[in-house]
Amino acid sequence: MNLLLSEHPWAFTAMALVLGLIVGSFLNVVVWRLPKMLEREWRIQAQEVLGLPVDPIGPTYNLMRPNSCCPHCNQPIRPWENIPLLSYLMLKGRCAHCQTPISARYPFTELACGLLSAMVAWHFGFGWQACGVLLLSWGLLAMSLIDVDHQLLPDVLVLPLLWLGLVVNSFGLLVALPDAVWGAVIGYMSLWSVFWLFKLVTGKDGMGHGDFKLLALLGAWGGWQVLPMTLLMSSLVGVFVGLMLLRLRKAQASTPMPFGPYLAIAGWIALLWGGQITDFYLQSVGFR
Ligand SMILES: [Zn+2]
Repeated sequence: MNLLLSEHPWAFTAMALVLGLIVGSFLNVVVWRLPKMLEREWRIQAQEVLGLPVDPIGPTYNLMRPNSCCPHCNQPIRPWENIPLLSYLMLKGRCAHCQTPISARYPFTELACGLLSAMVAWHFGFGWQACGVLLLSWGLLAMSLIDVDHQLLPDVLVLPLLWLGLVVNSFGLLVALPDAVWGAVIGYMSLWSVFWLFKLVTGKDGMGHGDFKLLALLGAWGGWQVLPMTLLMSSLVGVFVGLMLLRLRKAQASTPMPFGPYLAIAGWIALLWGGQITDFYLQSVGFR
């Protein structure tokens, strides 16, 4: 099996694609439920701190329970309706019971997760590197979607993945450990400094603390080397998309816009192709 996967990169890529589709289906649940679980927890904590009556303990609600159901008619989703991508196509994007349209976000997330996983598998080939970066990619996808929906990068996702980056690089999986440690430290400090500078000058919060932690995470995985390109690409794309949204009048200058997805996408690209992009740039400006 190992031999098959290492000698036939296509077999490994195809396997990663299918695995990615299945994981994407689970990520839909995480993106939908995790913020609700956290909000519930925070409400109870706030009530305890303020000495208010605490909400009664409701029915179990976590990533496993209750089973998924249609948000419109509450009909439980049967296993054959839960096949990534295929079920959506077979049901023509509608609930089998009440015919309410199902958001295209779900199959899109599954497809995106499948394609990202296939790209990672193809890029790294069969081995521990691919396994590590697959986990990272799934985490980044979940975080980005939650950030888009709630302007929130949950610590329960960001911090474990940050530590994991340091752990895998303690074995030199992607970069040497000192590079990873400095990547985490400099990643955090750079956005932290921008945040405080912005706050001192304008008196406003320009970004969330989650963004510092996310850049620390990317530095922990890819080393300090990925930071300049990540920051450059994420700001350029962020400004571009922000201007587009303003232009389309879908947003105002004061509307909070999540920065996390841009960081995540830019960091992921820098991690996979940072070297090639730098080489290409240096060649095209005539340095090499
Ligand atoms: Zn329904």
